[in-house]
Amino acid sequence: MTNRSPLVSFSESAASIVRTKIVATVGPACRSEHMIEELIRAGVDVFRINMAHGSIAEHEESLTRIRGISESLFRPVGVLVDLAGPKIRLGELPNGAVECIEGDLKRFVRGTCSNSPEEFVTTYERLVDELSVGDSVMLADGTISLVVESRSTTEATCRVIQSGTVRSRQGVNLPGAKLSVQAMSPVDWQHAEWAATVQADFVSLSFVRTAVEVRLLKELLRTHGSRARVVAKIEKREAIDNLSSIVDAADVVMVARGDLGVEVDVAVMPMLQKKVVTMCQRYQKPVIVATQMLDSMQHSRRPTRAEATDVANAILDGCDACMLSGETAIGEHPRLTVEMMRRIAMATEAQYLSSRSAGGSTSPEVLVEGLHPITQAVVDGASKIARELDARLIVVASRSGITAQSLSKLRSGVPTIGVSDNVTTLRQMALYWGVTPLAGVDSLDANQLLNYVSSWGLREGRLTRGDRILLVAGIGFGTGGHNMALVHEV
Ligand code: PEP
Repeated sequence: MTNRSPLVSFSESAASIVRTKIVATVGPACRSEHMIEELIRAGVDVFRINMAHGSIAEHEESLTRIRGISESLFRPVGVLVDLAGPKIRLGELPNGAVECIEGDLKRFVRGTCSNSPEEFVTTYERLVDELSVGDSVMLADGTISLVVESRSTTEATCRVIQSGTVRSRQGVNLPGAKLSVQAMSPVDWQHAEWAATVQADFVSLSFVRTAVEVRLLKELLRTHGSRARVVAKIEKREAIDNLSSIVDAADVVMVARGDLGVEVDVAVMPMLQKKVVTMCQRYQKPVIVATQMLDSMQHSRRPTRAEATDVANAILDGCDACMLSGETAIGEHPRLTVEMMRRIAMATEAQYLSSRSAGGSTSPEVLVEGLHPITQAVVDGASKIARELDARLIVVASRSGITAQSLSKLRSGVPTIGVSDNVTTLRQMALYWGVTPLAGVDSLDANQLLNYVSSWGLREGRLTRGDRILLVAGIGFGTGGHNMALVHEV
């Protein structure tokens, strides 16, 4: 074991354990060393670097800061690199913005710069070819809608149905249209290679449509020596149509409600969120619910009642993590927002766990790829034993993190400490519901682990003498899985 004391300066009292993980988007409002430290202390588990904005130099600086502060606090924190994917954006508009008034006609044409307010260009060269009469086109986050009335070889003419102001480079959504655009642009490839080089813990792909796209990114990362877990962002109708195969192929899933709520009727989005979360439970994949969770806190010190309820409902649905976007990236109160999310999570989890223990079995329906059947059985058993013996902690020793992930999805409610001799695995565990990754472990020997965790738990007030701990580990009888659940009294 490393001699240093783990979590020397970051301490979490037993009373304030929060199992739901918080993902915070990095941006100008929180990029400074001081703010990153404040956010980690407030409860951020994973930082998202959004490749759709900013330069590689900026992202690299943020990542180095996050890693440095996380290490100095002995608090493993994950980094998620979010690839922009095939998002279509408007090009430059005359004077940067254009009014769209109900009944007006607007033309989509090829090129990079439009010369008149009636003409739009986009980043997708083939848009004009692939639009059909009757298709909907949504601009400005879905607040402006148009419908295609006619099309020629050079332009698609649309009628404005809902008015608003659109600005240069804003997103273009085409609900229901099936485009031939590549899953990853050359820039996405470069960004994925960069993510591999800097050993990002997670890489997400936007606008996923099929499982093949997820596998493509996985393969690209592996060939560059990356162990990053791939996050499939569900934000298109086609992804919902192919949901089970995408969830099966992905390591982690995100309900990306910002675009999903434009690509499908926003009225059906809440039930789609539940469908995705349930599918992730079947496949034992961690799922992040994202976008506008505490949106009003970009400017206000308190969330709306509806936002607080939204966070609570996502947790009750069974999400593993909630994500903050503009709230931390460009908001006025990043720390307050994280604290608020943490408080809502804490208040919700007690109720959630008691309703689950009344609800019976939590076993998965589909075996996780890479999870040995022996491990699955041992994890199931350990979770039941821990509850029955009222164990204070489950300690899971995991090289790849898959065992910790599986334990997390069982929602035993018993606080779980994840240990690993691999630093990437530790940072990835930061996303798993109910799992606290513990730094400083460099051997997975059962006796050494129990001594280490016991003295950490006593020092941190998480354990008292006589408490029971359950250790889930593998001992070398060649089973290939985690084959041991051991009860230890401190
Ligand atoms: C979303 O659309 O909800 C999302 C998370 O993606 P982005 O923030 O990249 O638009």
